[in-house]
Amino acid sequence: MTQSDCLFCKIVEGSIPSNKVYEDEQLLAFHDISPAAPVHVLIIPKKHIDSMNEVTEEDLSLIADIHRAAIKLAAELGVADSGYRLINNCGPDSGQAVQHIHYHLLAGTKLGALTG
Ligand code: C5P
Repeated sequence: MTQSDCLFCKIVEGSIPSNKVYEDEQLLAFHDISPAAPVHVLIIPKKHIDSMNEVTEEDLSLIADIHRAAIKLAAELGVADSGYRLINNCGPDSGQAVQHIHYHLLAGTKLGALTG
């Protein structure tokens, strides 16, 4: 389930600290250590999945749960109406730095245009 050399698995296990904002049996959400916006939360599954490329049919309910958690967190953090962005980086060209699937919830300012 967890991978010993994975930073986010260590955060899930608690051996690396994080500033948690949400936790349930399947998911964890915590403030990004290097925020790119006034609100910058990472939502991750506790199950180790390297990236979106490794998501299987059986993981799809987990991905839906991440979206549910994002909706709940946006409301709790007071940004549901002002707006927010949910981003997944997958693979080298996206800049994915941590090989444990995660979604960035960004908000609290006028976010820049997407580039690509
Ligand atoms: O999508 P990407 O892999 O680039 O994002 C990884 C994110 O994990 C970064 O925004 C980084 O600041 C964050 N991070 C963190 N806590 C750590 C290590 C990285 O919040 N201990």
